[in-house]
Amino acid sequence: SLFGALLLLSLAAAAVARPPNPAAGEEAAVEALLARMTLEEKLGQLTQYRGRGSETGPRVPEGGEAQIRAGQVGSFLGVYGAEYSRRMQQVAVEESRLGIPLLFAHDVIHGFRTIFPVPLGEAASFDVAAVERAARIAAVEASAHGLHWTFAPMVDIARDPRWGRIVEGAGEDPHLGSVLAAARVRGFQGTDLAAPDTVLATAKHFVAYGGAEGGRDYNTVDVSERTLHEIYLPPFEAAVEAGVQSIMPAFNEVAGVPMHAHRRLIEDLLRGQWGFDGLLVSDYNAIQELMPHGVAATRTDAGILGLEAGVDVDMVSGIYLDDVPGAVRGARLDEAFVDASVRRVLRAKYRLGLFDDPYRYSDPRREAALTLTAAHREAARDLARKSFVLLKNEGDTLPLSKRQGTVAVIGPLADDPRQMLGNWVAAGRAADAVTPLDGIRAALGPEVRVLHAQGTGIRNGDTSGIAAAVHLARQADVVILMLGEDHEMSAEANNRTSLDLPGAQRRLAQAVHATGKPVVAVLFGGRPLSVNWLDQNVPSILMAWFPGVEAGNALADVLFGDHAPSGKLPVTFPRNVGQVPIHYNHKNTGRPPDAKDKYTSKYLDVAWTPLYPFGHGLGYTTFRYQDLRVGAARIGRGDPVDVEVTVTNTGRRAGDEVVQLYLRDDVASVTRPVKELRGFRRVTLQPGESRTVAFRLEPDALAVLDAELRPVVEPGSFTVFAGGSSADTIEASFEVVED
Ligand code: BGC
Repeated sequence: SLFGALLLLSLAAAAVARPPNPAAGEEAAVEALLARMTLEEKLGQLTQYRGRGSETGPRVPEGGEAQIRAGQVGSFLGVYGAEYSRRMQQVAVEESRLGIPLLFAHDVIHGFRTIFPVPLGEAASFDVAAVERAARIAAVEASAHGLHWTFAPMVDIARDPRWGRIVEGAGEDPHLGSVLAAARVRGFQGTDLAAPDTVLATAKHFVAYGGAEGGRDYNTVDVSERTLHEIYLPPFEAAVEAGVQSIMPAFNEVAGVPMHAHRRLIEDLLRGQWGFDGLLVSDYNAIQELMPHGVAATRTDAGILGLEAGVDVDMVSGIYLDDVPGAVRGARLDEAFVDASVRRVLRAKYRLGLFDDPYRYSDPRREAALTLTAAHREAARDLARKSFVLLKNEGDTLPLSKRQGTVAVIGPLADDPRQMLGNWVAAGRAADAVTPLDGIRAALGPEVRVLHAQGTGIRNGDTSGIAAAVHLARQADVVILMLGEDHEMSAEANNRTSLDLPGAQRRLAQAVHATGKPVVAVLFGGRPLSVNWLDQNVPSILMAWFPGVEAGNALADVLFGDHAPSGKLPVTFPRNVGQVPIHYNHKNTGRPPDAKDKYTSKYLDVAWTPLYPFGHGLGYTTFRYQDLRVGAARIGRGDPVDVEVTVTNTGRRAGDEVVQLYLRDDVASVTRPVKELRGFRRVTLQPGESRTVAFRLEPDALAVLDAELRPVVEPGSFTVFAGGSSADTIEASFEVVED
């Protein structure tokens, strides 16, 4: 038929236009394609534009289709939807000269449509498998909507709770940060990148973005080489080892060089020493920002700096496309830099299988079947439960009995679904979220009266609703306060100089407390909060972060004892902002703060210790740590160390405990932190049950970076610590000897 003939013709045309098959070998295919590209087509591959939100979904910006056709776009940020992405892909594949498929990228950070706890909350679970599963589910949903690439995980170590983006990472510890970085990379990328349910992961922001002075986002970072290597770089190295396919440089400078122009850290360390062969994508408009940083006078200068540093993809500035051709033709930039970056973009497209089938990700049937499924919601509920950290539980106020006459749920976070999701919600919707009030009502059923009052706003300081809330509290047998930050308070560019509850929330808590009713406080937020008044006055405090779509159900599960809380703090909670920076793995100094002397490293007005330490978190039972044993008292320099500890559930309920193992090199050629996390394991123990938990420390876990920053295991005494918190451990020691 005529139709058939036309179809054959168009298939033949497509086959001619299409690049060589990857079966011919990735490198050969990439080279063959590169050889056919004009300079503008090459720079088009390095150009990423941003989509626009519309009623029908995120779409390419006006004029975008013409740009795709002209070969001027390699990827889009924030364009998705199975049908729509397929149509745009078709323009690239069938209507551009070389038919190179597009990449669709997006910030899929803690879920796509099924929103999981914010990353800092996920980290509090210390549950590596559950965190990996969350990333896997996010990839399954996102890829079904046509996405190939996520700008996650954020692996920035954060020791400053003023910084709003502390919520996006795994907290303050490089070991936990590294383990979770690798887990998230595995989750997003799956086991086979060419499978249609995987996305390229992006470790960001390289590097030391969390070290912004004053906790002010984007601010200058001035960090020693040692701290860079000991604290900020390890999670990136772990991501590279896990096979991460892309890395995003940070907005900040490090010691005078903006990261988007940092050849030493990108070319020498990341690509050279670590062998990273994936893509570098600029942060949003960050090539252009080399101008206000003061290292580029013109857009052209900025483009040259970026490409020479090895930043392959220019996110939204348009500089590579508009300003670099002149630089190449005027011999200011060697085209070899452009070619190297194009190769990396094309390789990513091959690895995803897009040259085999450019439409494999844009599948409306998968999109319909795999979005916000019951199984995905269940996984989100499970991880939310595990992310909650019971900060305090005097007199075992929690769990609450379900047999209550009247429960009052009070506070500005009790019934606001949007807040439960946190920031960076991709395709998440407030309407999908179960609020605490919904969850509590569902769990208690019609027999229990559940009263609700907002009391005050989150930020606004309005006290006019407090009297009504108090009136309500008086009618209740128990009050559950839902307090904290709104999701925008811990987010990009949203930094604070106070870690207190915002607005009039403390006054609300004080007024409710004054009724004499039993009070439980649930805290929402994306950063440590200095809740000293609550700590001193309210018997039970549960840190809930922003728990995601299943917030209310997960909270009810824990508050009423169907599940016990088991999360641990991935970051130190200071007593006040004046203690910042404060982290558990500090050095001892020559004047330890707890030494019995007047001249020690402490404060006049506040204890030097934190409000709640790293690793802290209670459950509904208690655990005893005993018999910490090291395999041998003397160990050779190249030998692993086996450590065992016996943990017993000494309470009356079953419970999960996160067993933590810390290490200190007691005397070394350079100063060492008082302890450093080297391992952790989540165990479930029945009442009375004991378990021996074994850890193996490989030699690199014992190594220090010597004065020249070379890793070396130094002979001498080491201490291992085990416990349920960094501040509550038992210890044992061993000796490393020359072999
Ligand atoms: C953020 C990145 C993000 C990018 C794209 C930037 O402002 O720093 O983390 O991936 O925007 O949305």
